[in-house]
Amino acid sequence: MVALSSSEQVIRSLYQITNDYNKGFNHQVNALLCMGLEAFKLDIGILSRIKRNSYKVKHCVTPDGIEMQPGDRFDFDSTYCSITCAARGPVALEHVGQHDTFGSHPAYKSFGLESYIGVPIHRNDKLYGTLNFSSSEPYPRRFRDLDIEALQLMASWIEVELIRRQQEKQLNSLNKKLKIQAYYDSLTNIPNRRGMFRTLQKELNKLIRSKGKGTLAIIDIDNFKQVNDTYGHQKGDEVLVLTAEKITDSMRDYDFVARYGGEEFLLWLPDADEKECTAVCQRIMQKIAGITLAEKPLTISIGACHFRCDNESHGAISQLLDSLIARADKALYQAKNNGRNQLVSYTD
Ligand code: GH3
Ligand code: MG
Ligand code: MG
Repeated sequence: MVALSSSEQVIRSLYQITNDYNKGFNHQVNALLCMGLEAFKLDIGILSRIKRNSYKVKHCVTPDGIEMQPGDRFDFDSTYCSITCAARGPVALEHVGQHDTFGSHPAYKSFGLESYIGVPIHRNDKLYGTLNFSSSEPYPRRFRDLDIEALQLMASWIEVELIRRQQEKQLNSLNKKLKIQAYYDSLTNIPNRRGMFRTLQKELNKLIRSKGKGTLAIIDIDNFKQVNDTYGHQKGDEVLVLTAEKITDSMRDYDFVARYGGEEFLLWLPDADEKECTAVCQRIMQKIAGITLAEKPLTISIGACHFRCDNESHGAISQLLDSLIARADKALYQAKNNGRNQLVSYTD
């Protein structure tokens, strides 16, 4: 049988480790450290993070009797990795005690490690840390080019994985932001029309299954155009933010509000009938009257549609939703016609 070179072994094991993607980065790095220890016949394996003069153990595999934990920090200058980073490439030391210069290195004095092989790790062209293997025993032979090659292969995988993980993180946070932008109104921070439809489809479905009841109401600020015309658009925006806050403050935990349009808000009150809806709406109207602009308090008109889901079909949720909104809108129109500043419930 032909003996495998250490880089061939490393390639095989690395392939195995990269396939274990589902087990997570911690598991993979630990497996890689164990693999390096096996390949080099050393007993301390470390992936470090280096920032200025701080050397932090990110991952480590150590033998019994050596107490080292991820998170441990050392003075960077007191580690062999400072030699590796200064060299900007792999460093292999077989018997430090007998080395002309490194025999007096602070790292040797601090840790007494005789053998060491390490390589810098970069992320986005900046130093990230090191991958290193060491032992308190002198190395029984010289490190070979094959060993260095194997070490560099491991380091390359870590570098690729670090960048991939960083990009994945950036992508996830970007996705989160996009989702917020897609479903929330950037001015008032409450759901926008799209977010509203997404939530209400689910909510209505729930009510249908439980043969429940509820109220859908549309709130429209009275004479809002005048607010803009008198105080400016900026002030108008502030009033919209305050209005959204007052509505949110007046709702029950399980109620929902969205910015339906310019100065219109949609209120969803599950399980609420006319009486409960009136109570919530009165609280909202009172709080909004507290928004002081001039002598006149701000007022709103509300059109509400109370409904029961007894005989509703599961199939046509969006049509049902549209018809509830249309009814609330009719009631709102009535409220405006009646002189504004009031709640009107839809009747056939
Ligand atoms: P009514 O009592 O009949 O509802 O009268 P109104 O003036 O409130 O209604 P109208 O529909 O005539 O005007 C609504 C105004 O809301 C017009 C529009 O410029 C303003 N508006 C819509 N979106 C925004 C916004 O995001 N910010 C500001 N400042 N104004 C907005
Ligand atoms: Mg309006
Ligand atoms: Mg209005």
